[in-house]
Amino acid sequence: MVLTNATKLHTMSVMLTLKDHRQTKIRNALLSIFATYQEPVSVAQILDFLKKENLSPNKTTIYRELEFLLDHEVVHEVRFGDRTVRYETTSLAHHHHLICIKCHKIEDISLLIDLKGEEARIETLKKFKVLHHSLEFFGVCQKCLR
Ligand SMILES: [Zn+2]
Ligand SMILES: [Zn+2]
Ligand SMILES: [Zn+2]
Repeated sequence: MVLTNATKLHTMSVMLTLKDHRQTKIRNALLSIFATYQEPVSVAQILDFLKKENLSPNKTTIYRELEFLLDHEVVHEVRFGDRTVRYETTSLAHHHHLICIKCHKIEDISLLIDLKGEEARIETLKKFKVLHHSLEFFGVCQKCLR
């Protein structure tokens, strides 16, 4: 939960990009959530965070705002195969996730190899234009192993 300078800068640039759009209380609250919690968050978690800020928008508003932030590439979707869509800031460098199946803790991980080579190979082999990829690792975290 550290607010790095990079994230602060990103948030500022996001504000600039979005400045021609109507600013809403909810949108600003969402931006600060994504700047503060740099891990993927679900709509349920977002609603909890907002409740603590004494904001209680309905789900439709949240989804509309998230759609807006997705369109402006401020956030991207992360899926862990559990039907829950999570949203994460696009300010972080490309990375993957470690998901603990016991406590559901999510940790970021960068790979030593990047998969650009694989993407290129797939494009040649399958004549398939790769737009992006997602690769998550499921297992048991250090705390739950004890
Ligand atoms: Zn765990
Ligand atoms: Zn992440
Ligand atoms: Zn990757």
